[in-house]
Amino acid sequence: MKTISLIVPCFNEEPTVELFYTTTQKVFDKLNEQEERYKPEYLFINDGSRDNTLSVMRDLNQKHPDTVHYISFSRNFGKESAFAAGLSNASGDFIAVMDVDLQDPPELLIQMLDILDREDSEYDVVGCVQKSRKQNPIRAFLSASFYKVINKMAKVEIKQNVRDYRLMTRKYVDAVLELNEYNRFSKGIFSWVGFNTKYLEYEGVPRAAGETSWSIFQLFEYSLEAIVDFSDVPLRFATIVGSFMCFLSILALIFVVVRALFFGGSVAGWASLVSIILFFGGVQLFCLGIVGKYIGKIYLESKHRPQFIIQEKR
Ligand code: UDP
Ligand code: MG
Repeated sequence: MKTISLIVPCFNEEPTVELFYTTTQKVFDKLNEQEERYKPEYLFINDGSRDNTLSVMRDLNQKHPDTVHYISFSRNFGKESAFAAGLSNASGDFIAVMDVDLQDPPELLIQMLDILDREDSEYDVVGCVQKSRKQNPIRAFLSASFYKVINKMAKVEIKQNVRDYRLMTRKYVDAVLELNEYNRFSKGIFSWVGFNTKYLEYEGVPRAAGETSWSIFQLFEYSLEAIVDFSDVPLRFATIVGSFMCFLSILALIFVVVRALFFGGSVAGWASLVSIILFFGGVQLFCLGIVGKYIGKIYLESKHRPQFIIQEKR
């Protein structure tokens, strides 16, 4: 019998944890209908929830000590850290990461296992792409732009609307675990690791209960982090803009000197001079900001802090 580890990050998910368990359990009943083939290993990660998520997990663990496990962080460390904790604690032959709100339909596991769990399978990961995502037009536009930008800038390819939901083989997860960087953008990491990925398409579903914990501003910040984590193009951009401006100012200098030599100087043009100074000041600060962002990342990385701190584990 093969073990399927399910890594489920939860942040303020009191109403959904139990529902997730019962729904997924039904899928396993279906999988094991003819013969006992798969054993689930639930790994709930409590990411510093402020509601009673943890006690729901404790109850579930008490009722099903063999299959339900949980890890509770000492505070909110973010979904990426929850993934990292889950991956390093999962013992399954196959490992899935999925949201607890049932937006990642557990039924898909049947199809995913069908692709991965066969002798001659050429795939090591099955990912999921949401077909029609019901979200407001601004969010949709921003998310489409993000994928365009990151695919242009980074050397990894990230499919648009790919969910975090995926089923992976042990071999693949071991490879992911070798990347122990502090700044983690898992979609990028998953793609960077390589192997053959099969993508399944499915219709997006609304949350089962509770509400999303991401604001547009947080998503924007997350996108910036992702780009900086996976690309040095912004740094090169700073160099290119800098060199271009340098070239331009040399031309201007020549022009001014020649004019002064042959036609005499002039005091007119105060306004244009100030705007040029302001403009260059702006460009410099902007480029400094980009450089600063990378230095910040190096700073965090060089401290070698743990990605999460576990308060309770069962
Ligand atoms: N989540 C988490 N830590 C956080 C934010 C979210 O573990 O700081 C979990 C959350 O409980 C859920 C999953 O990440 O299981 C996806 O979150 P959500 O449904 O809010 O995001 P969306 O589906 O809207 O992208
Ligand atoms: Mg969700």
